[in-house]
Amino acid sequence: MRLGFEESQTPFDSGSQQARVWTERWVADWMFCTNCGAPRLSQFPANSPVADFFCPECSDQYEVKAKNGKSFGNSVADGAYDTKIARLTSNTNPNLLLLGYDKAAREVRNVCVVPKHFFVPEIIQRRKPLAETARRAGWVGSNILLSQVPEVGRIYVLRNGQPERRETILAKWQQTLFLRNQSVEARGWLLDVMKAVEAIGRPEFSLEDVYAFEGRLQLIYPNNNNVRPKIRQQLQVLRDSGYLDFVGRGQYRLRMGR
Ligand SMILES: [Zn+2]
Repeated sequence: MRLGFEESQTPFDSGSQQARVWTERWVADWMFCTNCGAPRLSQFPANSPVADFFCPECSDQYEVKAKNGKSFGNSVADGAYDTKIARLTSNTNPNLLLLGYDKAAREVRNVCVVPKHFFVPEIIQRRKPLAETARRAGWVGSNILLSQVPEVGRIYVLRNGQPERRETILAKWQQTLFLRNQSVEARGWLLDVMKAVEAIGRPEFSLEDVYAFEGRLQLIYPNNNNVRPKIRQQLQVLRDSGYLDFVGRGQYRLRMGR
């Protein structure tokens, strides 16, 4: 993997259009499919409505968001809100490929993929409609709230200039692939419980540790009067999916990092 952008016919500093040419070239040259491991991604024709690349082997789609600077920040601006929400339930919903580059050094520094199965309505924020004076008056865009995505849903391919091992990336991807078989509604609860488990911060934890998040979950789901049974149900699904193991009475262990 080479981090520097290819010298190209277009100068880098002539605006965001050129940055896009450089970063897309990099993705075409160096990115593999994080879903199936295929060695290359194919580019959609320019101006495709939502996605930028697709995998010729498994058909997973990728939307690329590139940003100059050290971090991706807490949110990233995306396309029309209604389209984004409608696509959550479709097979063609793209994975999000975040690419952070250093404009001065002309190289890629961070690449992180958020698998499409981590997308739920809660992480898509509706933006204010464009003002009457705007060319597309009334148009409503969206923000993707990266800060709401659990840690396991941010899979780094390159971190601070250091490539992650390919086997590690593919293994991390497989670990949460079970979410694809869950409806968008069911995913919401699962992701919230996964975030609670992450917040505990230990690979081994007890049911009581997860119950400590009951109040927070109740705030997210004010109409649910059975938060504790709901938590146990999610832990059951996470066990059946191989995400964690039950190791004893009310004791659990994450399977990560094996
Ligand atoms: Zn693939």
